[in-house]
Amino acid sequence: MGYDRKVYATVILNTRQGGIGNGLTYAVPSNVFVSIGSLIKAPLRKRLIEGIVTDLHREKPEGDYDVKDIAKVLSDEPLLTKNQIETTRWIAEYYVCPLRQALGLWLPGGEWEKLLPEKEEFVHYTIQLNSLVTKKYGKKQAALLDYLQGKEWVRWEEVKEATGVGRDILKRFLEQGLVESKFELRRNAIHGVSITTNDVSLTPRQTAAHKAITLDPRPTLLFGITGSGKTEIYAALIRDAVSEGKSAILLLPEILLTENFVGRFQKLIDREAIAIIHSRLTPSQRREAWRRCRDGSIRLVIGSRSALFSPLSNLSLIIIDEEHEWTYKNEQMPRYHAGKVAEYMSNPLRHAERSGGGAVAEPERSRSTSQGNQQSPLKLMRGPSTPPVAEPVLSAVEGAPGSAQDDVAQHDMKLVLGSATPSVESWFKAKNGTYQLVELPERYGGALLPSVQIVDLGTLQFGRFYPLSPTLINGIRLRLQKHEQVILFLNRRGFATSLLCMECRYRFEDPETRLPYTVHFRGQHPYLLSHHTGGTLEIPAKCPKCGAANLRPVGAGTQKIESILSELFPEARILRGDADTLSSPEKMRVLLETMKEGRADILLGTQSVVKGLDLPKVTLAAVILADIGLSLPHFRAGERVFQLLTQLTGRSGRRDPGEVIIQTFRPKALEVELASRHDVRTYLDQELVERQKVHYPPDTEMVRFVFTENAEKESRVFFERARLLDSSGSRGLPSSLEENKAGRVEKLFISRAPSLFGGGKVWQVFLRGKGVRESLKNLPEFNGVVDVDPIECL
Ligand SMILES: [Zn+2]
Repeated sequence: MGYDRKVYATVILNTRQGGIGNGLTYAVPSNVFVSIGSLIKAPLRKRLIEGIVTDLHREKPEGDYDVKDIAKVLSDEPLLTKNQIETTRWIAEYYVCPLRQALGLWLPGGEWEKLLPEKEEFVHYTIQLNSLVTKKYGKKQAALLDYLQGKEWVRWEEVKEATGVGRDILKRFLEQGLVESKFELRRNAIHGVSITTNDVSLTPRQTAAHKAITLDPRPTLLFGITGSGKTEIYAALIRDAVSEGKSAILLLPEILLTENFVGRFQKLIDREAIAIIHSRLTPSQRREAWRRCRDGSIRLVIGSRSALFSPLSNLSLIIIDEEHEWTYKNEQMPRYHAGKVAEYMSNPLRHAERSGGGAVAEPERSRSTSQGNQQSPLKLMRGPSTPPVAEPVLSAVEGAPGSAQDDVAQHDMKLVLGSATPSVESWFKAKNGTYQLVELPERYGGALLPSVQIVDLGTLQFGRFYPLSPTLINGIRLRLQKHEQVILFLNRRGFATSLLCMECRYRFEDPETRLPYTVHFRGQHPYLLSHHTGGTLEIPAKCPKCGAANLRPVGAGTQKIESILSELFPEARILRGDADTLSSPEKMRVLLETMKEGRADILLGTQSVVKGLDLPKVTLAAVILADIGLSLPHFRAGERVFQLLTQLTGRSGRRDPGEVIIQTFRPKALEVELASRHDVRTYLDQELVERQKVHYPPDTEMVRFVFTENAEKESRVFFERARLLDSSGSRGLPSSLEENKAGRVEKLFISRAPSLFGGGKVWQVFLRGKGVRESLKNLPEFNGVVDVDPIECL
């Protein structure tokens, strides 16, 4: 088989070699068959390197050089499906990164060949010999022949086990032609088999929500207050998919929560068909999970952000729980957001958009060639958008063997985003109809929302129990007396947020970031730790500036609160849950079990603790300091605080009437007030209006450019150039820009500032406006990080 006309393939090679991140062009020899997604080997310099075909086309690339041939095809079936390749291309375009980087999201590190399905050998007898003939063979040889006698193809592993015959004997028979052998894909026992699912019982309200979600093809924003039973709806949707022979992905914001969910879902689906996938798996664990996803053994993947790129066959459902969480944004290249990518994957209109030359796709073919020029990410962005393959080649490919294993047609893919406090972005999309909005406004089992008390810290006199107010202390005491449980939330780990000299006000700072060191305790021994670099420092006896021996830790962290609590309530059993104590999902599971079984009284923790917990015996939840984060110069700061407060108020009274105490210096702040009234809707509506007023996302697009260290001058030049994109200004335009007025932005907001975490050494430029992404191609070359739709802005 082959092509009657010359066909060329764009191939992404498995190499980090610079400059070829968008692929090289190779010719497809006439006796070779490849399709998009095929794993092949091709020559680069003097080596053969494995690679993946991302595009097929008729045109020989420009330039006067020899196009080399693909050397070898490594598997009949493509390693990645066309849909996966298309998603890769979209990620590279949208997030401005080389294709190679985006492709890496799908493929575990190391050799890609190792991901191919394992093959096993089958043998059979070519001639039926009678027993007289077998007699002239030795004992072992006869045993082999006898075993094969009268059988069809038998697995070689089975023959070996049954007869004890080694490969050397088989080899002789193969040479003589008495026995034949063939290799076939190892099929998992449950491949293609529908696996048992158990029923989910839903309340009438949940049943209605489930039905509404199933009937609407759009992505669904499932807005359900804490305790309204979103998980039951997830379970019903997953059961639907799995019982129809399809598969599903459930994304969670935090690896620590996966164990908890697996426990709930293995009652529903065979545990063997569930995989937990996250970035902490070893490469070999990841490869194993990868193969099992692809061969159909796995029907449900539960995991963090990166699990979105599991190669499940027949994927028909993606659920993103706690969709507002910032952990869904990857803070390394490619800086994708799992929700955004999932939305693309589930969008039934994406093919139409692409061919219509939509906002994202550029109608220009990839110019990457074997000459492999060194290219900066921004320059790459002008090239990599390869349009759909030309029709004749495409149809030739579709008729090919192997391409049948492509995913479900895209309109069968459903996306569900669940949250009790949707992000402003998702709320915006639900309001304009991009998302279907399904609400669960009541708590499961008729439980009431807790009453909320706000304690104004500014009006109190504190003694040594600061920052625990008398109201909070009494609340805890009452719960301890009644043998009920308490959750305390403080979003600062460690003992103290900084160490100050009381004489001269000198503050110990990490020289690298210029941010204060946090005071931590290792046993009885205090030391300084930078939360941003991980650097540590011993605490000196005296101030390095004035020499006074009067250093004091200020700003309480979880360790400090723990020590105050044990002083106040020596009999209480206290658990502390923060990044220092919860180093693995297993530890989180143990912590939760300890709480559920009533073997602890107080759970004190950072945000890991407030995410998605369901602890029925908790009747008091308190925020020790709600203001943390509120004063940060970040347009999402208020939203973040609101989300945390609302999440926390949901943690109390899951079964019995609960109470919430919010301690704050700003009792009148909108976030605090609305969270205390459980009024998510009003908050989101107001915040959306506010963002529109000041032209921040989701009203505008935003792109962040992070410059390399000490590139202040470069960032200034870039900033000046970016200002020219603003069409409202009267500045003169260089000719290239004049020609391309379409690439300009009507109302462009540009800012430039050193990063808070870079200690003044790392500069950032922010562009904000409608159609900013489109205008990027008019910017000068740039060596640094491009962050589209940034979450991190400090
Ligand atoms: Zn001092």
